[in-house]
Amino acid sequence: MSHLPPRSSPSCNRAAPWLPYGRQSIDDADIAAVVEVLRSDWLTTGPVVPRFENAVAAFTGARYGVAVSSGTAALHAAMHAARIGPGDEVVVPPITFVATANAVVFQGGTPVFADVDPETLLLDPAAAKAAITPRTKAIVAVDYAGQPCDYDALRAIANRHRLVLIADACHSLGGAYRGRPVGTLADLTVFSFHPVKHITTGEGGMVMTDRVDYRDRMGAFRNHGIGTDHRQRAERGTWFYEMTELGYNYRITDFQCALGLSQLSKLPAWLDRRRAIAAAYNRAFAGVPFVRPVAVRSDVAHAYHLYPVRVDFRALGTDREHIFQILRDRGIGVNVHYIPVHLQPFYMRTFGTAPGLCPLAEAAYAELLSLPLFPAMTDTDVDRVVEPFQSLPVVRAA
Ligand SMILES: *Cc1c(COP(=O)(O)O)cnc(C)c1O
Repeated sequence: MSHLPPRSSPSCNRAAPWLPYGRQSIDDADIAAVVEVLRSDWLTTGPVVPRFENAVAAFTGARYGVAVSSGTAALHAAMHAARIGPGDEVVVPPITFVATANAVVFQGGTPVFADVDPETLLLDPAAAKAAITPRTKAIVAVDYAGQPCDYDALRAIANRHRLVLIADACHSLGGAYRGRPVGTLADLTVFSFHPVKHITTGEGGMVMTDRVDYRDRMGAFRNHGIGTDHRQRAERGTWFYEMTELGYNYRITDFQCALGLSQLSKLPAWLDRRRAIAAAYNRAFAGVPFVRPVAVRSDVAHAYHLYPVRVDFRALGTDREHIFQILRDRGIGVNVHYIPVHLQPFYMRTFGTAPGLCPLAEAAYAELLSLPLFPAMTDTDVDRVVEPFQSLPVVRAA
């Protein structure tokens, strides 16, 4: 996957250790939790899956969680719950990982790209509204970098046009908007437990919802479309099952959920650390010309999956390639989140998207650079990332 950090820097003769843009933290308690399940009777579809679902639901304030094998599978399940099908349009922002739009395509739907706010890079409610047609069925809000979208504005639009509001909250577990936690802000909220995200299950994801019909549809979807009506099964005998709709094997294992539960207990401390690192970056970059962090609104609690900055490369007399290479040569694993999805060859070929469709996203993309951010980073690591920026003429001459 394109958002995976490389294991080592491309250049070999480096003294400083490699600092990736994101990294998991695994301790002995995590390992013990996994081993305990490996020794038990249930490796998959056992009791730890609902325990993990309930724990994430309790943490976020959502009523239900449906755990699946990846964040991408969770997005797909959410599209199924929202009954997205051929001919349906779903409004998505271009500043996201490709999986957000791909999930619409999995269901035969058409992603319609609406531009972002030029400061926060979050889906602009006015642009989302302008993208609505009689075929629109849903809006996907992407909490880019960990900052929740303007959910009150998006909710008003969704209600007026009878659309399902889906949150791709793969970046924002632990975030909040106007005092309400991520997980309660949309009809369906999607999390990823990939190792670079806030907590990990190796691969894994979950969809949060308050609606029991959505929960049941997604529960069947992750298990080949086989429904889980226990009463019916008890009446007809335990051998009987019915496949009512097309589904997939998107199940997650019990030992992955054991890891997720153990990780979840550390999430509050990790969120604190992510926010402290972001605050240190903010302070450091306040005095650096041509570098500015992506704007954060005052009515959110940012979860800081990423720390993207915008660099005016032109004013510095250089380009992103050059700065990118210098930082990577110093062992600093910078990355770019994201290439606007509508500029990916698949979307240009299949849906006729082209440069100019979302000019604000495209302009932002030209300046974006994501800096390393993960809970185990030390203050010295932060200084190491900031230092080349503070001596940018040195960077330029190098
Ligand atoms: C990580 C991510 C996904 C996909 O999650 P996986 O668990 O890697 O499948 C989807 N959307 C966004 C915004 C993400 O960051």
